[in-house]
Amino acid sequence: MPIRMCVACREAKPKRELIRIVKNKEGVVSVDTTGKAQGRGAYLCPNVSCLEKAYKIKALNRALECEFTQDMLQEVKRVILRREIEK
Ligand SMILES: [Zn+2]
Repeated sequence: MPIRMCVACREAKPKRELIRIVKNKEGVVSVDTTGKAQGRGAYLCPNVSCLEKAYKIKALNRALECEFTQDMLQEVKRVILRREIEK
């Protein structure tokens, strides 16, 4: 089981328990729901507090080497909330 680290709390967890955010070759950042998207990836716990912490400390900017915008924050938040509903 591959283990990855959350960029916000730095806790290591099994890959499938984390959300992967990926930047593709064109520089477009999105949430990788398949876990197979090509590009530079960063992992995050599926909760809003880790997401907001990552945004505040700019951990995703560093991990993805790009500007992680407010729009992206909202998109990831939607994915997290959807996951919580489906649980
Ligand atoms: Zn975390």
